[in-house]
Amino acid sequence: MNVLINAGPWLEVPPPGYGGIENVVATLVPALRERGVRVILASVGASDLEVDELISVYDTGQFGDLQKPYNQVMGIAHAHQARLVEELRRRDDVDLVHDHLEVVGPAVLSAFDGPPVLHTLHWDLRKHPAFYGSFPQSIAVNGVSESQLRRAPEALRDAALGAVHLATPLAGHDNDVRAERGEHFVVMGRVCRLKGQHVAARVCQKLGLPLVLAGPVSGLGTQADLETVTQDPYHPLHGHPDVRYHADVVAPYLDGDMVRWIGAVGGQERDDLYASARAALFPIQWDEPGGTAVVEALALGVPPVGLRRGCLPEIVEHGRTGFLADTEEELAEWLLRVDEIDPEECRREARRRFSPSVMAERYLELYERTISRSRSR
Ligand code: UDP
Repeated sequence: MNVLINAGPWLEVPPPGYGGIENVVATLVPALRERGVRVILASVGASDLEVDELISVYDTGQFGDLQKPYNQVMGIAHAHQARLVEELRRRDDVDLVHDHLEVVGPAVLSAFDGPPVLHTLHWDLRKHPAFYGSFPQSIAVNGVSESQLRRAPEALRDAALGAVHLATPLAGHDNDVRAERGEHFVVMGRVCRLKGQHVAARVCQKLGLPLVLAGPVSGLGTQADLETVTQDPYHPLHGHPDVRYHADVVAPYLDGDMVRWIGAVGGQERDDLYASARAALFPIQWDEPGGTAVVEALALGVPPVGLRRGCLPEIVEHGRTGFLADTEEELAEWLLRVDEIDPEECRREARRRFSPSVMAERYLELYERTISRSRSR
């Protein structure tokens, strides 16, 4: 089977550090290729994931350009998608397009009579109500959790082929990243109100537990980057909601000792920091659609402790593989009991449910269904 996988133009695959969708693609592709799928990747030129073919418009990730005016961002997405369509016009050996580019991906592909398309929904589907409410019928979709699909507009929910949970290579059978358990608790994720770093900081400060916040602030990965932005009133990110959230809501908790923000981390540094944590905190303030960082924590044997929202109850079994709370007070109580969770149980669960093989098998099944659905139309 020849599959064209569209990762979009925002970051290279695999991403250098933070990168939700690009991480998903980097996890899925090797497992598909092991199963004999030929993969054509639409991404940026700097992507160095092993694939059969790479197509791109841009040499490097355009993530920084997400801060540009809306029309310019749309221009970038459309230019990328136009390249993909040009490729599909040029050849007739692509069996299926697996698209991950939010909104512009399905919008452009639905206007073109090409191979069957499966579009993976990565976001909270209430974000673009008008678009998702009248989603193009010709495109098959899947969600990344049941809870995400339950909250989707009715037409989209009815049309979805199902949910495929996110996976991580850390849950592969040959992976055995282990670290001495440290004292610190971690929030691994974009620094923004939705992820709730301020709640983690408040709780840990009250309990006297050391907390490390890892993650970029609106794409800014270091303190120096942040300072450049906050000191320059004309910088395009000056006044960005996430930059303001960091400065006004999170920074007052940072004390250099108990609560630290270390910026964005990637690769081995991320795995080591994560694997040695006592627990991973998810005090989420939204209905998290997929939660890669949650399955990564399980795979590393680090119990997730979070608020019972979004996909968390589908991924974490309260009392067995982590703890789920309904309130901040409850979250604090469970944090103190986190050592009751058996790390081996977390790892086993990740290997059973969130490995690249499990994800690839599930997608292969959806690819077949997408192809037969398009034949019968
Ligand atoms: N991540 C990372 N470095 C950081 C912060 C996050 O590599 O400093 C990774 C994290 O390990 C996960 C991804 O970025 O793989 C975030 O995906 P998730 O689904 O948790 O959140 P999203 O940002 O997509 O809502």
